[in-house]
Amino acid sequence: MRRVALVTGGSRGIGHRVVTRLAQDGYDVAFCYQANKDAADVVAKEAAEAGAAVFVAQVDVAEKREVDRFVKDAEKELGPLHAVVSCAGIVRDNPLVLLKEEDWQRVLRVNLDGTYHLCKAAAFAMMKRKAGSLVTLSSVAGVYGNAAQTNYSASKAGIIGFSKALSKEVGKYGIRVNAVAPGFIETDMVAGLGEDFAAKMTAQIPLGRFGKPEEVADLVAFLVSDRASYVTGQVFGVDGGLVI
Ligand code: NAD
Repeated sequence: MRRVALVTGGSRGIGHRVVTRLAQDGYDVAFCYQANKDAADVVAKEAAEAGAAVFVAQVDVAEKREVDRFVKDAEKELGPLHAVVSCAGIVRDNPLVLLKEEDWQRVLRVNLDGTYHLCKAAAFAMMKRKAGSLVTLSSVAGVYGNAAQTNYSASKAGIIGFSKALSKEVGKYGIRVNAVAPGFIETDMVAGLGEDFAAKMTAQIPLGRFGKPEEVADLVAFLVSDRASYVTGQVFGVDGGLVI
């Protein structure tokens, strides 16, 4: 019997690779996207070709009611959730003195509140069943801070505190919670960095390159699996050694 995984932000980047990797690993997969239905259709097709039953929805993770509905509909469609991965995230970079209040709030709302909405909606059902695994997406920015990313760094540091606290609440129900903190990963999110900045950052990475979304998906797939059955409350860097 296939287990069920649910992923936010599955239409591209890291979320896309998490969806297809989990489908290959034998999960049926629910995922949501924000706007690009065509991109979501491509991911859904790839997951279906890997043998998964797939449920897709357009959801703004900043809206609690939409996330509640997504989780409920996904369980109705595919069955009880075994693995939940909070991938949806945005950046709106600017030095603090130039940062607009709306950009501060939107980043916190999508990244941190979105993670809260998802985990809250999923954890209750998992607690009743006494099984499940949650993975949140933090960032090196949440561990060591990035200039011009006070909003993003705060949201990603918040996700670490949230994940550790939640792991202490739900461990007794057999639920594991872990955070993944990627470094620079080749997705749309970092595509606009500019060649000079990218070269400067690459020089600081011991492995000498940006990561691939598949390399993050591999870690996520391990963390939600039974191979990680004694792993909870941790933050895992997948950053080529950038933060040591
Ligand atoms: P991406 O921009 O390629 O994809 C982001 C995904 O989130 C998309 O599917 C998008 O539709 C979805 N999304 C955005 N806002 C949403 C909303 N309000 N509601 C629902 N979905 C929404 O980004 P990525 O690089 O794949 O990043 C995935 C996660 O990994 C994010 O949380 C990001 O902060 C984190 N991360 C990425 C990097 C990196 O270098 N790419 C580094 C560290 C952490």
